[in-house]
Amino acid sequence: MTETRSQALAALLRPFFPDATAIGSWVNGRLVPGTGETIRLVDPATGLMLAEYPDAGAPVAAEAARAALAAQARWAALTGAARGRVMQEIARTIRAEIEPLARLEALNAGKPIRDCRVEATKVAEMFEYYAGWADKLHGEVIPVPTGHLNYTRREPLGVVLQVTPWNAPAFTCGWQLAPALAAGNAVLLKPSELTPLTSLAVAALAERAGLPAGTVNVLSGYGHTTGQAALAERAVAKVVFVGSPATGAKIAEAAARHLKPCVLELGGKSANIVFADADLERACLGAQAAIFAGAGQSCVAGSRLLVERSVHDRFVAMLAAGAARIRVGDPLDPETEVGPINNATQYRHVLAMIRGGLDQGAQLAAGSDGTPADGGYYVRPTILAQADNAMDCARTEIFGPVVTVIPFDTEAEAVAIANDSDFGLAGAVWTRDVGRAHRVAAAVRAGTFWINAYKTIHVSSPFGGSGKSGYGRSSGLEALHEYTQVKSVWVETAAAPAVAFGYAPGIGA
Ligand code: NAD
Repeated sequence: MTETRSQALAALLRPFFPDATAIGSWVNGRLVPGTGETIRLVDPATGLMLAEYPDAGAPVAAEAARAALAAQARWAALTGAARGRVMQEIARTIRAEIEPLARLEALNAGKPIRDCRVEATKVAEMFEYYAGWADKLHGEVIPVPTGHLNYTRREPLGVVLQVTPWNAPAFTCGWQLAPALAAGNAVLLKPSELTPLTSLAVAALAERAGLPAGTVNVLSGYGHTTGQAALAERAVAKVVFVGSPATGAKIAEAAARHLKPCVLELGGKSANIVFADADLERACLGAQAAIFAGAGQSCVAGSRLLVERSVHDRFVAMLAAGAARIRVGDPLDPETEVGPINNATQYRHVLAMIRGGLDQGAQLAAGSDGTPADGGYYVRPTILAQADNAMDCARTEIFGPVVTVIPFDTEAEAVAIANDSDFGLAGAVWTRDVGRAHRVAAAVRAGTFWINAYKTIHVSSPFGGSGKSGYGRSSGLEALHEYTQVKSVWVETAAAPAVAFGYAPGIGA
């Protein structure tokens, strides 16, 4: 008898959680059962059920917050070097488990296995990178004009809540966990209810590597129940959210009610600008990777392709030929380049956006006309050409393998179209003109910008956006600043301090 995909999933989970009988939340070093309604995990490749589990709910969130608070004090009391050593060991442990992690991700999230292997490896890299920072977080000595020694300390926040989406679950988990831990925080991580499995596995591996129980707790469940309950926990000092603008607004509202700061990493509608003088072959490969990799379910996807009018038709023909060659299929097939859309709701959204674009006058140069197919949430790489920046398909995040191509005539027009968006996450320019490349890079509103490249991001470089793409930064040194707070310490050094009524005469009086 051949193994079903749900049996394959159960077999993959067993080595990570040998004592567990069901999917739950990882709290204080063990899997605990949820308390809420049943959540179904559906296989994006088939539309059939893979597994189910109960929503964690408020009681589990409270238990996790208590565990995190206790663990954080112990974790922060370690020297930075000791935290760094544990994090290096976490990286080594993850590196030894790339294949099972990747297969778990491919089954649960529907991402091609080859992408999942790369992303799981990047999780290990993230722990390695921040392990190196753990003993290099220091404050400054400030030359204050009084007789005092004034210095700053960069301290952990305490317990932080991280809420992550379904498009790159393991990657986003590492992206947020590693800086938070390096800085001495404990974490409540609430992954998408649709894709909790690799976050649970990473937490279990981290403890196998020596991370004290309770330092990372993974809450499996819905955002409006478990996520909101965790946010309201008194122990939670800050919320870092990665997801859609609509949910980001709800998180920010709730965080404001509790006077908790937040970082919001939201969506995008990034402009990928191709000038006629570019190396068009390379620009075409770049444009394909920008929008079709990960089935376009990427916040930085180059979903608006701005092409200089004189080469528009030629470039679209090249892109269409490339799109037709892309291998779309089962995420577990090593040859697959583009897998299915992650879930039914998103699948319907992508198809509706395609139909809307065609209704509004865009021309279908390749891919789907928005008609649903049977079995699995597959959408072929799709090109909506001769579009206009006012169309819905140019303004709304589609989060699918659908590119909207908009012709332009001048550099100024290209920049104006790029900036005529509610989002400000990423962008790119393809040109051989060095001066133009830097002018456009400076003029486009984006947190990340590429010149003759697309989609390269690295844990060492800051990442984030503006407008409806959110605020605050992840990765690089910037993330360590988000996960720490600065304390200013004053030390009297004068032999006869000249202090009257609480302040030194002449200073601030
Ligand atoms: P989503 O906003 O629906 O969900 C994200 C997370 O928020 C999930 O864990 C969900 O359970 C939780 N959530 C939902 N409602 C909540 C509530 N009321 N309170 C608290 N938590 C709640 O996003 P998604 O559909 O999972 O992911 C797709 C979106 O994520 C896209 O917009 C994409 O661009 C964005 N994204 C952004 C980045 C980035 O770094 N900027 C990266 C990846 C994805």
